[in-house]
Amino acid sequence: MNRLSLKFLGGAGTVTGSKTLVTFNGQKVLVDCGMFQGVKRLRKQNWDDLDDVNEITDVILTHAHLDHSGYLPRLVKQGFKGAIHCTSITARLAEIILMDSAKIQEEDAERANRNNYSRHPEAKPLYTVEDVKVCLGQFQEHDFGEWVVPGIDLRFVFLPNGHIPGSAMVEMHAEKKVLVFSGDVGRLKPLIMAKPGRLPACDLLVLESTYGDRLHELTPPAEQLEAAINQAVELKGQILIPSFAVERSQEVIYLLCYLMLHKRIPKLKIYLDSPMAAAVSEVLVDYYDFVKEENLMRVMVQQLEVVSDHRASRAIVHMREPKIVIAGSGMITGGRILHHLEAHIDDPKTTVILPGFQALGTRGHSLVSGCNEIKFFGKYYPVKAKILQMGGLSAHADREELVEWIKQGKALPKRIVLNHGEMDASDSLRVKLEHEFNIPTSIATENMEMILDF
Ligand SMILES: [Zn+2]
Repeated sequence: MNRLSLKFLGGAGTVTGSKTLVTFNGQKVLVDCGMFQGVKRLRKQNWDDLDDVNEITDVILTHAHLDHSGYLPRLVKQGFKGAIHCTSITARLAEIILMDSAKIQEEDAERANRNNYSRHPEAKPLYTVEDVKVCLGQFQEHDFGEWVVPGIDLRFVFLPNGHIPGSAMVEMHAEKKVLVFSGDVGRLKPLIMAKPGRLPACDLLVLESTYGDRLHELTPPAEQLEAAINQAVELKGQILIPSFAVERSQEVIYLLCYLMLHKRIPKLKIYLDSPMAAAVSEVLVDYYDFVKEENLMRVMVQQLEVVSDHRASRAIVHMREPKIVIAGSGMITGGRILHHLEAHIDDPKTTVILPGFQALGTRGHSLVSGCNEIKFFGKYYPVKAKILQMGGLSAHADREELVEWIKQGKALPKRIVLNHGEMDASDSLRVKLEHEFNIPTSIATENMEMILDF
């Protein structure tokens, strides 16, 4: 008898560290290989080795975000020699994201050692640029819809799921059993992405639940951003937008230029102070339709300045005139935004607009929760700036959209297991799905093993 089992090694009870080990007929493949972020208990797990790394033959990567890809260099360092399968755009984005992550970690370790604020005798990066280069050599690119056969009676295909460019759900066939890993599901009416494809018929759906207990704000993102910027302009201070480099930064730039074009906000200089977001934008120029709109492009050329050089970045930090700065990282876990915050977070004229999800334990989460000081570079900084969170600009489907996406699928899944969500969000979605569809639904917990009988 063939044995099929799933083990949830990450992204269970949390939104980070996504890793699901699939074992079929003794063969082991890993779906996603993400880095833990946020609270320290989770982050510490990035330093743990995975069991039986040598037995894993393949990694299937749903998309390039760090919480799905960020552990790959560590896996390779532990001896993983197999293929890392993904779509072509994911491969290009993952290269940028992993390289940036390695650089940030090397810089953080170096700074901690220099200033001696690490509690460890010597701070070390989780992985280096060299480690990432080795890992990238194992990537194998596939088209959407192309079947990949990693083992006997085991095959899978990437299908678009509308979350970020290149992102996919995975339909996997283990002999006669069909599993679908949703990956991060995008919005049903996205701003600049294509909407998610239809859910295939399956025996088991592993479904993300990031927004399982929430609905996105109904106010359109353009209106939210318009109000936030106009409010900030009255203060005559800095407007800082910590943003994810992939998709979110491009969305924010698109909206800002759109609002400027239609005179709904004043023309302000926009600095994209994120070499990663700049590199991503270059990769995605062919991908987004809005770059074909001439009037919008004109505003973009006039107002947008891409800052890649370190020294130029420092100069911009200290420019006093009102401006908009978009810089990584999206949840303020690192990156150039920290230098801007260091200079301006204690100024009541500053406005910080958070356009993305803020995971528990991140500085972004502390800010939206109303904390009066935040810690970085080994110091506490008083928070006097105005903090605004935008809810409408998510790359994740909300509760209703997830339900609707399942409804519009080719058939209802026979069983659902929820991952990639904080416990409250997953549980609330579990109740809703059971009520709506009467499908047995469970919640993945850390290291939970699920055996699927034939
Ligand atoms: Zn994602």
